[in-house]
Amino acid sequence: WKKTMKVAVTGAAGQISNHLLFMLASGEVFGRDQPIQLQLLGSERSRVALEGVAMELEDSLYPLLREVQLGIDPRQVFADADWALLIGAKPRGPGMERKDLLDINGQIFQEQAQALNEVASRDCKMLVVGNPCNTNALIGMANAPDLPKRNWHALTRLDENRAKCQLALKAGKFYTSVTNCAIWGNHSTTQVPDFVNAKIGGKRVPAVIKDTAWLKEEFTPKVANRGGALIKKWGRSSAASTAVSVADHLRSLYTPTPMNDCFSTAVSTEGNPYGIDEDLVFSMPCRSTGDGDYEVIDDFVIDDWLAAKIKESEAELQKERDCVGHLIPG
Ligand code: NDP
Repeated sequence: WKKTMKVAVTGAAGQISNHLLFMLASGEVFGRDQPIQLQLLGSERSRVALEGVAMELEDSLYPLLREVQLGIDPRQVFADADWALLIGAKPRGPGMERKDLLDINGQIFQEQAQALNEVASRDCKMLVVGNPCNTNALIGMANAPDLPKRNWHALTRLDENRAKCQLALKAGKFYTSVTNCAIWGNHSTTQVPDFVNAKIGGKRVPAVIKDTAWLKEEFTPKVANRGGALIKKWGRSSAASTAVSVADHLRSLYTPTPMNDCFSTAVSTEGNPYGIDEDLVFSMPCRSTGDGDYEVIDDFVIDDWLAAKIKESEAELQKERDCVGHLIPG
């Protein structure tokens, strides 16, 4: 047996976690030979609900699940964590400005990053799901100076999965034939699903879907607004598909990325090969050798259309960064 992996999860009594925790415990994410310990962070609000979550996990008799710990103090819950899945965040309420949300959630991420810096494993990896996730991750890395910056991720895999779905539907092909499909930028409506480099059945998308107007004017907003469209129909934000995309994200880091393919994750732009502002958390095409680490792919073709779109998302993230300057030390 491998050494037990300690996985801390925040917002553990929330909707996304309600799907994700069971996937983690089953072994379908980190492998069927990888024992795990779940360290769940709640709050006074969720203390009792969290006990219910633990009861369901226990009753599922997962052989790989060695222990479930519960707590409301991040310094206790993040102790020795190998992974921190940071899902908990205050949802945007009616009439709330994006700036207010950035500030409230920024404070949560500042505090949690300080705790991770003190007590987590020195190679702990962090995946921020709670919105606004790119900027929360930027705040996180600035407040955890002893942890590697490159270990911070913000989730854009759901956006990638949505983009693949739309391309496959339009081309009349199965999802698995869509490869090399990156999301650039912010996990917001300025995100850029990249059909320029994406492939269907090994061919560049524009050679398969010849309807350029659809690609530029319908595909892009459809993917970017998918979350909002789902809330209108379902009355709540995507939970199951988000959990699936978190699992996909994690699996991609522990599986060698096939040649001519990529996965999307929002990571530090420091030293990036595309001339993007080097002090942001930005979604880019990445590949992994399967050891949990990644590299940004440096040979994606950036045509004028893509360059302009990437600039828009970069500008939005720069504005978000300006709003939370007080939470970014140094
Ligand atoms: P829920 O509302 O079900 O759960 C969120 C959890 O956040 C709550 O259980 C709560 O847990 C915690 N929380 C932390 N601070 C506050 C606060 N001030 N007020 C209220 N709750 C708080 O949300 P979901 O699980 O559906 O979504 C979690 C996050 O993921 C959201 O920010 C959402 O926008 C984001 N998201 C991101 C996606 C992405 O692709 N990046 C996709 C979909 C959602 P506790 O009381 O234990 O602290």
